[in-house]
Amino acid sequence: MTTPRNARRWINWGGNQQSLAVDVLTPGTVDEVVGHVKEASETGRRVKVVGSGHSFTDIAVANDQRMLLHQLTDLVSVDGPLVTVQAGMPLWKLNELLAQHGLAMPNLGDIDAQTISGAISTGTHGTGENHCTLATCVEAVKLVTAAGEVLEVGKNDEIFPAVRLGLGALGILVEVTLRCVPAFTLLADERPMALTDVLAGLDEWIPSNEHVEFYWYPYTDRAQLKRNNKVAENDRPLSGFRGWMDDEFLANTVWQGVCNLGRRVPAIVPTVQSIAARALTARTYTERSDRVFCTPRRVHFTEMEYEIPREALPEVLDALPRIIDGLPFKVQFPVEVRFTGPDDVWLSHGYGRESAYVAVHQFTGAPYEPYFRAFEAVCRPLGGRPHWGKLHYRTAEDLRPVYPKFDDFVAVRDRIDPARVFTNDYLDRVLGA
Ligand SMILES: Cc1cc2nc3c(=O)[nH]c(=O)nc-3n(C[C@H](O)[C@H](O)[C@H](O)COP(=O)(O)OP(=O)(O)OC[C@H]3O[C@@H](n4cnc5c(N)ncnc54)[C@H](O)[C@@H]3O)c2cc1C
Repeated sequence: MTTPRNARRWINWGGNQQSLAVDVLTPGTVDEVVGHVKEASETGRRVKVVGSGHSFTDIAVANDQRMLLHQLTDLVSVDGPLVTVQAGMPLWKLNELLAQHGLAMPNLGDIDAQTISGAISTGTHGTGENHCTLATCVEAVKLVTAAGEVLEVGKNDEIFPAVRLGLGALGILVEVTLRCVPAFTLLADERPMALTDVLAGLDEWIPSNEHVEFYWYPYTDRAQLKRNNKVAENDRPLSGFRGWMDDEFLANTVWQGVCNLGRRVPAIVPTVQSIAARALTARTYTERSDRVFCTPRRVHFTEMEYEIPREALPEVLDALPRIIDGLPFKVQFPVEVRFTGPDDVWLSHGYGRESAYVAVHQFTGAPYEPYFRAFEAVCRPLGGRPHWGKLHYRTAEDLRPVYPKFDDFVAVRDRIDPARVFTNDYLDRVLGA
């Protein structure tokens, strides 16, 4: 089999990871997935599925065979709240399909470009004290193992807590069954505030609102608080122009220009951040849930996100201005803070504890490593767990102590992929070779 060189080249959304695969596999059926995997096992080759390339880590880098599942993106069945889809389905398609059936995902992250399998496999999450990673919505999966077996794994199976969030290390997901909820409308309330006022209100707002998050603007004391709650009526939708102005023109077109300017003249970044933070206005609107959770992100960046025990948040936020002020470059993106509740998925960042998530970003192409390393150095001693899909510098050795079920996961991997058909350098680093 030969694949043209240009089809073998791949670059992720953040522009910080690339690979040149030997071959690209595009199966159109589960049988073809099985055939490719069996052949790889028999010939000692590797297979890495890539979703929509929205991870910032090298988790999806395929240097041997890259498998794309863009022909496996259909609805399989709807059985009450249980919806089964093929594994390559992007979230935007899932959201539309669920809406047609009067259903929705209970929670989502900031964007809808990921595939369902990529999203669950790295611990993608949104915000909300009564919510966890998207992997907790998974009720069952169909998984092609290295032996070419098609395993149907459900709630009572021993490996279920591993395969729901498997980092792509355990096999190829070909179907995912999700427990959905009735479609709902959200009332979004977004308002600029002083950071100190946001921090003072969190203990009250986190339990009394379904979804709470905030952004802090570096070099300023300003933040933007976002609270989303279910309402019965969609009676205050964003008008077409206002929605376009806020989410497309200001958040993408103008922001891109601001970032380009900041890259050319770094000295003005603190002033620009201050103006941007002051220019924020309060808004409330109602919309279909997924349209509130997810917004388009066209200004590309790199990111690190750490999950920390909720009580450690003040210490991390206290350290960030000192880190940023000491950097030899300017930080152009706000810091995002979210909250989730505990779950029981073995490699979930939120396993067994109330979490705060703190995400730091930098404009694509701008230096980030000293910033991210300094941030990691603060989060790590606090028991922090890095997002599997976002940049970090941790290894299996130092991740093991922060995941109580780390060795159980590795044991499943040893059993179902002993020859490491599905590994790559990233997985060797974070799970062991
Ligand atoms: C702009 C932007 C916004 C983001 N917002 C959020 C957010 O709000 N919350 C959050 O938690 N994360 C967020 N992320 C991170 C993102 O959700 C994750 O990195 C996610 O994994 C990307 O999904 P993907 O389809 O692009 O998967 P990829 O990055 O392509 O792959 C990720 C992993 O999934 C594996 N995989 C994919 N398909 C399969 C399959 N069928 N079987 C087995 N393994 C598979 C791959 O092998 C790889 O290991 C964001 C990323 C970007 C770029």
